[in-house]
Amino acid sequence: MKPSEQPLRHLEGQPRPDEDALKLEPRDVKRVDAATLEWTWGDGHVSTYRFKYLRVSCPCAACVDEWSGKRRVEVSQIAEDVVIRKFEPVGAYAVRFEWSDGHNTGLYSFRFLREICPCSECQARRAAEGAKGSEA
Ligand SMILES: [Zn+2]
Ligand SMILES: [Zn+2]
Repeated sequence: MKPSEQPLRHLEGQPRPDEDALKLEPRDVKRVDAATLEWTWGDGHVSTYRFKYLRVSCPCAACVDEWSGKRRVEVSQIAEDVVIRKFEPVGAYAVRFEWSDGHNTGLYSFRFLREICPCSECQARRAAEGAKGSEA
């Protein structure tokens, strides 16, 4: 068989190389109401984040202890009606939010945002992965 006739079957069923990139690429980001951000990803997945959830999840050094990974800010310390004042893309991989409470040091990478997606599908996946991790 000539090389050009070799079947391409070995490629089937494998993730396309750009699938991961698509997953982490924002296609559309919009505010759907006073307290909710809807984020559509390149692979079609939709993440709906409450502003407060995003604020509480802030990964910056002031909110999370860098050494222990322990969160320094309690959910109760964040105002219920916190809103995003400014939305600033950082390079091609992250976004910085400026919050109504003045906090603006958190850099939310797209990977991080995708990881904290609160939809039931992602929650179930994280739970499954967590269970797998604890078994090992
Ligand atoms: Zn922060
Ligand atoms: Zn999700």
